[in-house]
Amino acid sequence: MAASGKLASFRLPPLPTVGELIKLYKLRAEKQLSQNFLLDLRLTDKIVRKAGCLNGAHVCEVGPGPGGLTRSILNAGAADVLVVEKDSRFIPGLQLLSEAAPGRLRIVHGDILTYRMDRGFQANISKPWEEDPPNFHIIGNLPFNVSTPLIIKWLENIANRTGPFAFGRTRLTLTFQKEVAERLTASTSSKQRSRLSIMAQYLCTVHNCFTIPGRAFVPKPEVDVGVVHFTPLVQPQIQQPFQLVEKVVRNVFQFRRKHCHKGIENLFPEARRVELTQEMMQKADVDPVLRPPELTIPHIRALADAYAHLCIREPGLLSYEFREELRLKHLARKSKAPTGTVTDM
Ligand code: SAM
Repeated sequence: MAASGKLASFRLPPLPTVGELIKLYKLRAEKQLSQNFLLDLRLTDKIVRKAGCLNGAHVCEVGPGPGGLTRSILNAGAADVLVVEKDSRFIPGLQLLSEAAPGRLRIVHGDILTYRMDRGFQANISKPWEEDPPNFHIIGNLPFNVSTPLIIKWLENIANRTGPFAFGRTRLTLTFQKEVAERLTASTSSKQRSRLSIMAQYLCTVHNCFTIPGRAFVPKPEVDVGVVHFTPLVQPQIQQPFQLVEKVVRNVFQFRRKHCHKGIENLFPEARRVELTQEMMQKADVDPVLRPPELTIPHIRALADAYAHLCIREPGLLSYEFREELRLKHLARKSKAPTGTVTDM
């Protein structure tokens, strides 16, 4: 591991360029894996700078691919970098990089969606949740189809202080499709305000750092890319279980353009919908004619608290799912219909 504090000592020795490595190992980008590489080290350096000071840091990089971002992380002085890559074709090139940075780069051939990151690092890097974040960062330029489910999983981990957040308030610097980056950071009443804005912002400080034009990637994706930085909050803005908050937010945003009480109604069984919606809105003191994007996090907090209160009083409510009621009704209708009618087709 790097011991010196001098930045110069962290710099990698001369290596083939990332482009040369791609040619050497014939690393054609796989469309199915949505592989788009960043070969411009000025851009990968810029992403890494947004993560904060990496001097002596522990870093988990997700989806290193040919290793451009990995080089920038190592050059920024990270002492211990663990990369998780799903595609085995990249492993030899990463091993070359590992030899150039002795003892500083560990390679895991695996899937970040199932990888147990809490086992990849020693417990002594942890910092108590209430203190400053640990010197441990997650950085990645992932395919869009992975980064969105992954951030939802990590937000739940943040709420429960599990996975990478068993080490404390681990910071994340990740790329997303530009539109998703905008949703993650959207403020109240903005066009992009969505479920994702609430779920991310009630748990983290979220910054949309900068946009990378699609043309900077090889091959060029259809869309531009946003780099987003997350720091978990010491105190989440909503003090209810993640699953409960997620359910309230999902229902509220079900009808984006309608008054918010329309979505809230679907939290309750049809027979008691009007009565319980009214009670919840009154308890929360939220104007039922606000539209979902107009709701602030304190509004959502009040709604989640009111819903939790009703669920304690009537425990069956928490497991009620509107779609399930619809499905059962549909099945019941189907079983009653005589065979040969249109509903059997
Ligand atoms: N970080 C590299 C760069 O910036 O040039 C590669 C970026 S490319 C958009 C995404 C990388 O993530 C690919 O190397 C791909 O194989 C890898 N990947 C995709 N799904 C993954 C998963 N579930 N777990 C780990 N790596 C994954």
